[in-house]
Amino acid sequence: MDEFLKQLPQLAKDKHNENKKYFAKLKKKPPKNLDYVMQELHEEEFERTDCLTCANCCKTTGPLFTNADIERIAKFLKLKPQQFIEQYLQVDEDNDHVLQEVPCTFLAPDNYCLIYEVRPKACRGYPHTDRKKFHQITNLTLKNTAICPAAFNIVEEMKKRIKM
Ligand code: SF4
Ligand code: SF4
Repeated sequence: MDEFLKQLPQLAKDKHNENKKYFAKLKKKPPKNLDYVMQELHEEEFERTDCLTCANCCKTTGPLFTNADIERIAKFLKLKPQQFIEQYLQVDEDNDHVLQEVPCTFLAPDNYCLIYEVRPKACRGYPHTDRKKFHQITNLTLKNTAICPAAFNIVEEMKKRIKM
């Protein structure tokens, strides 16, 4: 996994234009069974990929924290929501609550998440490759291919299964 992670930014860069064109066609004419195929590809990939050997998402990019996330996590940490915000979060240019720093403060050295049961919704869904109406998040997915080895593999496999 370490070797793959080292190569991933370049691999994603090499595929960027091809993927961009592919996603543009996909957006124009999404196949009827797209969500079904994505679900399959996602499940197959995560049977092979062990996130505990990776944690690249937690190390290099942070989630957005919704109000519900903040309330849930603050309660878990026995903090008031405002205390949690002051201690761990900042507001980004889109006015969203995000982490003050990456790697994520809640990532343990063994790649376990210290707040796993109550982690943000965005962490739960990452890399969102099984999301319904997948064609609506192709820009995000394009970015994620440079961060997440599973997302990269899923997109490569997707191009073989859904010809555009
Ligand atoms: S979701 Fe992707 S980037 Fe995050 S740990 Fe799993 S494989 Fe790595
Ligand atoms: S909250 Fe947990 S899952 Fe989310 S980025 Fe931090 S360590 Fe990773």
